[in-house]
Amino acid sequence: GGAKEIHQEFLRRMEAQGVNCFVTLEKEPHDKSVGLKQSGCHGFCEMGPLVRIEPWGFLYIKVKPEDCQEIIDKTILKGECIERLAYHKDGKVYQTQEEIPFYKKQTRLVLEHCGHIDATSLEEYLSVGGYKALEKALFDMEEEAIIKEIELSNLRGRGGGGFPAGRKWSQVRRQKEPVKYIVCNGDEGDPGAFMDRSIMEGDPHRMLEGMMIAARACGAQEGYIYVRAEYPLAIERLCKAIAQAHAYGLLGKNILGTGFDFDIHINRGAGAFVCGEGSALTASIEGKRGMPRVKPPRTVEQGLFEKPTVLNNVETFANVPLVILNGAQWYKNIGPENSPGTKAFALTGNIENTGLIEVPMGTSLREVIFDIGGGMRGGAGFKAVQIGGPSGGCLTTKDLDLPLDFDALKKAGAMIGSGGLVVMDENTCMVEVARFFMNFTQNESCGKCVPCREGTKRMLEILERMVEGKGEPEDIEKLLELADTISSTALCGLGKTAAFPVVSTIKNFKEEYEAHILEKR
Ligand code: SF4
Repeated sequence: GGAKEIHQEFLRRMEAQGVNCFVTLEKEPHDKSVGLKQSGCHGFCEMGPLVRIEPWGFLYIKVKPEDCQEIIDKTILKGECIERLAYHKDGKVYQTQEEIPFYKKQTRLVLEHCGHIDATSLEEYLSVGGYKALEKALFDMEEEAIIKEIELSNLRGRGGGGFPAGRKWSQVRRQKEPVKYIVCNGDEGDPGAFMDRSIMEGDPHRMLEGMMIAARACGAQEGYIYVRAEYPLAIERLCKAIAQAHAYGLLGKNILGTGFDFDIHINRGAGAFVCGEGSALTASIEGKRGMPRVKPPRTVEQGLFEKPTVLNNVETFANVPLVILNGAQWYKNIGPENSPGTKAFALTGNIENTGLIEVPMGTSLREVIFDIGGGMRGGAGFKAVQIGGPSGGCLTTKDLDLPLDFDALKKAGAMIGSGGLVVMDENTCMVEVARFFMNFTQNESCGKCVPCREGTKRMLEILERMVEGKGEPEDIEKLLELADTISSTALCGLGKTAAFPVVSTIKNFKEEYEAHILEKR
């Protein structure tokens, strides 16, 4: 909060001082002129509002409107760094963004432009190599070769399941049906997750480019972006980016004279968590109630409007231009072989540096929480981290050296999910954490099937009375039994994973549950 005011204040003061303020690269700079950009999220949320000043790369944190005049006088006009506004840690001053440990330990590929380019400018995206991958896909590669490259790269879906994107694309391409769709899931309903939002707000063209390449490869003519209505800035920037792409001949009929037709529409979701599930999402776009259906047929065979559909999430599509431009081999060199590439995580909870980070897959939880996240807030001890939102599980001190990748987490009984990391310190009550997530899932259950609709209610009732210290001796057993029934009989992923936070907190912190039982007190 506050970034808009800072932007206005800079504009006002610079103009009053006769400094010509050009807003984006679209206007030619000249003497005594300064570019002022509204970028997307820099990721270092804890320290916002942030101001980065080029060409020095100074990063000022927690900037207030009253700091703007000093920044103009000392930094913009004289190139001096104002140390009181720079990031400090353990007596050391970090003048530039690149020196700050929070950034230094990251590998920002998908988020490389977020916080750097003006997200509302197509020219800026083009100036950093934007749409070069599309150009390559259109002019230098056959459709099969594009899919082959994505398959070889082993890019796995970043929305939670980790299904190989290339395999999905090739399944859609193989369908005989001539009408096909590309759908981007920007629903992002996990509490504490905002990775996709930052990409849509900070680098919307990158994601569109990924969708266009997918359309070219699979033979699709239309694409839909399903984005939650609670993300108004993301919607605004996507609409602008789509209009710019149209004006530039990158969307619409006969794209860049190649005969390839493709267009993208935006669909606002009303914020139902279940609409992150493929069949509920496509039903919602069709104007129906967002409820999952029985599969098969799968989305790749009969998805949107019962046509073959590629459904990937925002981060997955944002990875595509990187793979096409740099090649599958380059991509596979980042992270472990079975989960290559990077992953964006949203760090929240009792952690020092809350924010948005990106690291190679396989980075350990310890590096993420302590080196990048700066450890626990207020020097408290680490207790656990909930990974993967309400469908994920909790990891504890024994898991700190676990590599964060799809397979290692699955083995540990958790999942990467979309990348939400809620970090908890030693003062957190794990029964309350389980109650919080169960309350969320219960509210979001669409009610179509009994085990999820009724089972989550019963689990929530038990957890609520336990939190009040009125647990009954058989409650833990009842919770586990309900969890087992719901997981094995629910129709969709929401129900199947609803009990995961309860099961994993019981597994790791059974004594806390026992302490909430009346008899034991
Ligand atoms: Fe709806 Fe839950 Fe059944 Fe999924 S499992 S279809 S969310 S009731």
